[in-house]
Amino acid sequence: RALVAAEAAGDEMTVEGALRPRTLDELIGQSRVRDQLGLVLEAARSRGRPPDHVLLAGPPGLGKTTLAMIIAAELSAPLRVTSGPAIQHAGDLAAILSSLAEGEVLFLDEIHRMSRPAEEMLYMAMEDFRVDVVVGKGPGATAIPLEIPPFTLVGATTRSGLLPGPLRDRFGFTGHLEYYEVDELDEIVRRSARLLEVQITDTGAREVASRSRGTPRIANRLLRRVRDYAQVRADGVVRQDIAQAALNLYEVDEEGLDRLDRAVLDALCRRFGGGPVGVSTLAVAVGEERETVEEVAEPFLVRRGYLARTPRGRVATPAAWRQLGLAPPTDVAF
Ligand code: ADP
Repeated sequence: RALVAAEAAGDEMTVEGALRPRTLDELIGQSRVRDQLGLVLEAARSRGRPPDHVLLAGPPGLGKTTLAMIIAAELSAPLRVTSGPAIQHAGDLAAILSSLAEGEVLFLDEIHRMSRPAEEMLYMAMEDFRVDVVVGKGPGATAIPLEIPPFTLVGATTRSGLLPGPLRDRFGFTGHLEYYEVDELDEIVRRSARLLEVQITDTGAREVASRSRGTPRIANRLLRRVRDYAQVRADGVVRQDIAQAALNLYEVDEEGLDRLDRAVLDALCRRFGGGPVGVSTLAVAVGEERETVEEVAEPFLVRRGYLARTPRGRVATPAAWRQLGLAPPTDVAF
């Protein structure tokens, strides 16, 4: 709840923007994607042509938007930002595409949430740099072909598995973003602290990093909450004990699990005996959208070995039971 409230406070976007790395070199972690993308961009630059379309896949807050901005910056190209849910009709997309400048980077966040007709228009635009604009209805309808300048699409999705094959195939490169290691988050926290002029000790930074759920966005957010605490309850310096006290106050536990993560584990173990249970049922039990449970909570719980996705449903691992302070049942198939 505290985290949601913080999200709602207006300054989030500005702060996030200020903390974004601007170049591939400034980017911390994701070394594989960084190397791969570096090569794609360098080759495109030397050919003097826009690079292939890029798909970025991974849970929220790992740096997809940041990377899209870096791609545009590295190409010295303008950037246009939109998202799947914002494109309701094919006409919305046609309007955007036809107003792109040559070489422009179009960032399409949540690309898996685009409507079908828009998606089909996008296929053609990606491949042939042209769209068919349909004018009129019924038998009299005509398709007017419209040329669009060569551009680079950067699509972002929380789950590449949700994208239809034909769309996935049209991206020349897919970068899979992984959760960050504590060492990397540590570096991110110290960098952000420098930018925000927060005094933080090494152990203080480590504490924030290790509770950040593998996610830079969360690391930056927790840093600001910890800073508040240090200012109000102490001398402004974020030391380890201050970080611990602040994060306990905001219900972020030592593993970085937040309220939703714990609610999912709790429902899974206490209400459904450890599963297997379908994700929709689980979502209803915790009062969240299915997508949120599936795309935000689950990937981290799976990665941490608390939850397994099986064909019959979600199953709690023995570690999940222990995390809740419960004894794992002895008769489960693990
Ligand atoms: P996404 O688009 O995947 O949800 P963002 O690109 O918006 O994630 O990243 C969220 C925040 O995390 C950004 O404000 C940025 O400051 C920070 N961030 C993301 N990746 C990195 C990174 N590799 N190094 C430093 N900060 C990062």
